[in-house]
Amino acid sequence: MMTTREQKRVALVTGAGSGIGLAIARRLVSDGWTVLFADRDFAAAGSACSEAGGAGTGSRPLTLDVSRREEWADAVQDLRDREARLDLLVNNAGITRDRTVEKLTDLDWHQVIDVHLTGTWLGCQAALPLLRESGGAIVNLSSEGRHGSFGQANYSAAKAGVVGLTRTIALEQARHGVRANAVAPGPVDTPMLAGVPEDVVNGWLEQIPLRRLAQPAEIAAVVAFLGSEQSSYITGQVIAVDGGSSHP
Ligand code: NAP
Repeated sequence: MMTTREQKRVALVTGAGSGIGLAIARRLVSDGWTVLFADRDFAAAGSACSEAGGAGTGSRPLTLDVSRREEWADAVQDLRDREARLDLLVNNAGITRDRTVEKLTDLDWHQVIDVHLTGTWLGCQAALPLLRESGGAIVNLSSEGRHGSFGQANYSAAKAGVVGLTRTIALEQARHGVRANAVAPGPVDTPMLAGVPEDVVNGWLEQIPLRRLAQPAEIAAVVAFLGSEQSSYITGQVIAVDGGSSHP
């Protein structure tokens, strides 16, 4: 049985219009959270909110390009005005621009760093005052690619950066009652993988002990745990959700 306080808990999920973000937002709605479905595409966020059962629960879509500081400021002000609290920030929005290092352009580099790493930093910085008020939590999406990933120098660097950022926020904010953790999935069955050639995916599958891709709901379950009181003594950690690929 949920308490009244839990029923009123508010989460903001970035990139909630698709894939893992949608699954996270759906899971949180079903756990009784009020969820802000944030995405750069308002129509996608609106459809996701309806599809995930958010309509009529207080959940709502929100336009937010995570790489833009002024949009974070607007989003947080909007939250203050309407929900007046934030208990969980999930920095999930992402893009890929894959090329080997010698072919990578400045644009490929900056676009990926801007969304994954700068976007996560801007989100944490903007949301921390509200999270401190509620004793809330941050969950950032890293990736198995944080250890290096062929053709993904920009993405790998960003996802390794997300780990350092998360750990630093955890250290700085623990005294203020805010926890920060990262989730590092292996390959997940989402639109992000649509452009990856089949032989590459098959090569990955051979290396994954569980011999399959993750489903978005399997990532969402871990994010929901890290955002809940059940993980109240876990902070500064990176939780691998990768079918057994990584060593502890
Ligand atoms: P996805 O299906 O492509 O969804 C990403 C969402 O983020 C899309 O709705 C996208 O909008 C949105 N987005 C992109 N740039 C944005 C921005 N600047 N501001 C706000 N929203 C933005 O990807 P996914 O597979 O669910 O990935 C979600 C997260 O998990 C990413 O951080 C990714 O790196 C991480 N991850 C994924 C995998 C995997 O195998 N899929 C593995 C490890 C980690 P558009 O559709 O308009 O671009």
